[in-house]
Amino acid sequence: MTSLAKHLANKFNPLNLLLPSHCLICGKNTDGENLCSDCKEKIRYLEYPLIEHKKNIYFYAITEYKGTMEKSIKILKFRKRKIIAKDLANIIIDFVSKEKMQFEHIGFVPMTPPETRERGFNQTYLMAKEISKANKIPILNGLKKTKETKKQVGLNKRERKENLKSAFKMTDKIEGNIVIIDDVYTTGNTAAEITKAIARKTKSNIYFIALARKIN
Ligand SMILES: [Zn+2]
Repeated sequence: MTSLAKHLANKFNPLNLLLPSHCLICGKNTDGENLCSDCKEKIRYLEYPLIEHKKNIYFYAITEYKGTMEKSIKILKFRKRKIIAKDLANIIIDFVSKEKMQFEHIGFVPMTPPETRERGFNQTYLMAKEISKANKIPILNGLKKTKETKKQVGLNKRERKENLKSAFKMTDKIEGNIVIIDDVYTTGNTAAEITKAIARKTKSNIYFIALARKIN
């Protein structure tokens, strides 16, 4: 087939109307993938994903927030290409399987209704939904963000901590290990506040997993 014929055949294949044929980062042709293999290979996995462990709470970050990973998260959050949430969720699915993590609930970092309205969706919920589907584990209800907070950018260390203080509430008591999904781990204030709220309602293990971590 000539390249023009190939191009036209691709163009008029009804499947291609649904599937992207270009890498969302570099624009290279792919066969229905959102990211090409070259861009995927550039993802930097952290050698030590466990950030901290306090009693029954474990904090993890899987990759470095840089290059392909930073671009992918921005494509999701700011260019609002929700289709890429599945690729990002797959990285977490592989991680929990490799670490042999046992859990019975899967949660995400909740947003307040005005925050959800502003973005149009919650990216951590989109990822949690994919993981829930793949692992056949229900989404955790009852974790809510009950306080409107300022953007963390531009606040100093003490203000950031104060800003998120008591911002999250867990309404129901739960049994069984819990995984909470976040996109980017920066200062750890969000992770600390969320896990504190959940820990009031359970003695089971809480695994807070961020897809990427900002490393200075
Ligand atoms: Zn690419």
